[in-house]
Amino acid sequence: MSYKILLLPGDGIGPEVIGEARRLLSWLQDRRGIAFETEEALVGGCAYEQEGVPLSDATIARAKAADAVILAAVGGPKWDALPFHLRPEAGLLGIRKELELFANLRPAIVFDALIDSSSLKPDVVRGLDIMIVRELTGGVYFGEPRGISDLPNGERIGINTQVYTTSEIHRIARVAFDLARVRQNRVCSVEKANVMESGRLWREEVAVVHAKEYGDVNLSNMLADNCAMQLLRNPRQFDVIVTDNLFGDMLSDEASMLTGSLGMLPSASLGATDAHGKRAAMYEPIHGSAPDIAGKGIANPLATILSVAMMLRYSFGHAEEADLVDKAVQNVLNAGIRTGDIAAAGQQTVGTVGMGQAVIAELDRLSS
Ligand code: NAD
Repeated sequence: MSYKILLLPGDGIGPEVIGEARRLLSWLQDRRGIAFETEEALVGGCAYEQEGVPLSDATIARAKAADAVILAAVGGPKWDALPFHLRPEAGLLGIRKELELFANLRPAIVFDALIDSSSLKPDVVRGLDIMIVRELTGGVYFGEPRGISDLPNGERIGINTQVYTTSEIHRIARVAFDLARVRQNRVCSVEKANVMESGRLWREEVAVVHAKEYGDVNLSNMLADNCAMQLLRNPRQFDVIVTDNLFGDMLSDEASMLTGSLGMLPSASLGATDAHGKRAAMYEPIHGSAPDIAGKGIANPLATILSVAMMLRYSFGHAEEADLVDKAVQNVLNAGIRTGDIAAAGQQTVGTVGMGQAVIAELDRLSS
């Protein structure tokens, strides 16, 4: 049996970092006997150039047929003036929507070797390991009514609607509780129950799921503004944070900055499990297409490599290999190997390929 993987390199540094994902998949196949069938398709600006749209129906069909999708990044200044539905980002939002990826998992981990890259003091972030679970397909980014219209008095009005149903809250809560069980068994649910009805419903319904199915997990609630503050004051108090689309957008970006580098952070977006036990899933680094360094061979591929580790863990249950990849990345950093974005002043650096090769060499060493 082999896993079908759709690779979507996208734009900018995407093709460069996806090359290192490919190298890792080959290693896993050759050395660990995990068989992959990979194919590649276009998404984002490059898809617009060649197919006229940022996400073609053919690519959607291939993504649906795959066991997992690995996407690098989309976007670039070349496409900034396009109407919204043709912009590269529409490809990214489109694939999330088509695969109904409602749960976005964003780990924020501080590697000891990079502790000085954090904007916070080492004592505050040492050993940090948070998982933010963001609801991705509902809430104010999708709620109706929405729009901008003219008022009779000559003013204009802009409207967005924050809306959540019980089933949307229950399914994201279950993802968070399941993750907590294999981590430190703590979930902090975040909303604004003090001023928003949708927040009150969120808090009540998370409590319902907790009481019925996850009594063994430690649940706390926090207001989103307090959470933003606590992430800076004492981030290690958190294990799993579960929150809505809007607050999750901001809190996960804030948490990522605690770790110091965009080039290091992976993510997973998961959908529902179908009748055959297959769960739609897409794995991607959180960074963008970095047009400023595209084509130079210097992009950090570690976020993409760590995204492959998340895929092994969450889509295929290969926790041992996922741990191995995480460990190899940690050892490579401990050995002082750096791409430019994570190097200290004057420190020697390697390029994208050099970093990918260093991880493979470490994997060889760890598994010999
Ligand atoms: P960005 O993440 O692309 O880059 C921000 C900065 O971080 C740049 O200086 C870049 O060189 C650096 N950087 C990012 N990833 C790196 C890596 N792997 N190695 C080394 N350095 C890295 O964000 P931006 O500049 O705001 O956006 C550029 C384009 O990417 C825009 O078109 C934006 O819309 C798009 N974008 C896409 C995604 C996505 O595909 N998920 C996410 C964010 C931004």
